[in-house]
Amino acid sequence: MSAGYVYDPIYLKHDTGQHVEVAARLEAIIAYLEKTGLTSQLTLIKPRPATIDEIALVHRREYIREIEETALKGGGWLDPDTVMSAGSYKAALYAAGGLIRAVEAVIGGEVASAFALVRPPGHHATSGQAKGFCLFNNIAIAASYALAEYKLERLLIIDFDVHHGNGTQETFYDNPQVMYISTHQYPFYPGSGDIGETGGGAAKGTNINIPLPADCGDAEYLKVFEQIIVPAAQRFNPQLILVSAGYDAHRDDPLAMMEVSTGGFGRMAGIIKGLADELCGGRLALTLEGGYDLNALAASVKATLDVLLGNSASDSLGQPPSSSGKADIDRLFGAIKELHKLP
Ligand SMILES: [Zn+2]
Repeated sequence: MSAGYVYDPIYLKHDTGQHVEVAARLEAIIAYLEKTGLTSQLTLIKPRPATIDEIALVHRREYIREIEETALKGGGWLDPDTVMSAGSYKAALYAAGGLIRAVEAVIGGEVASAFALVRPPGHHATSGQAKGFCLFNNIAIAASYALAEYKLERLLIIDFDVHHGNGTQETFYDNPQVMYISTHQYPFYPGSGDIGETGGGAAKGTNINIPLPADCGDAEYLKVFEQIIVPAAQRFNPQLILVSAGYDAHRDDPLAMMEVSTGGFGRMAGIIKGLADELCGGRLALTLEGGYDLNALAASVKATLDVLLGNSASDSLGQPPSSSGKADIDRLFGAIKELHKLP
């Protein structure tokens, strides 16, 4: 199976100084993919910068100018968590453009699936506000681009980053063409992501939040995928699947309190790949969001790419911990299934 990855050293120019979201994250991923021989199996897709018109599919032009001007001034803090350097604006244009290129490569048949290894991440950014390490909402921009450029009618976004993608939810809340499904620790940053947020107007039911208590591991996540995400995706029947792939639900991650193993992320990728094969001719593009333990991040990205390539499963960080399967989420499942009329 052919798979591609988007990468360019331009992404290292977003300099955050003393921060958890650092260039070393991408450097660790690329070094590990090279060391394990994976880069030679993958097609390298060179990114391009998103155009201002493409960014403006999601963000206000005044906000885009503010980001550009902050970079021209040499950088600065945009919110208590989000900082820019002189190189951040250009990196952010290439991050959004990188996922757009991944979508073009998948729809154009250059590769079956693609993973955009980009930064800054995107899913917290809203139309007029940087937030949670995010400047432009890469996945919302690429999804809007795909809808417009390829006249798609139904697009599915799966977001398994441990944080709720408030910016992505907000962008498509009233848009029935986009189904947004998020698993996230809750209550937790950024505060949104309650099960009652289901979409507005004609889009009611196309926003599915799965707010999980801390300590969920592979068993709970696989149950979420099998019992909620798979049937909801099958019913929606998307023509393209995009994924906000954050690896901060990993048990080694310093920011959150989940217990997912490296192999667990591989199994989630397998279910998503299965959905893409079943529903939309395999058309699948992922973009990197969070993930802050460098070893866990690199190994989990590799586990995901192994699935896209059809390689046998790997779990270099060992088996899931015994606590997996502990969290009681049956009541939550019942409520979500009832709310979204899932079997
Ligand atoms: Zn996150």
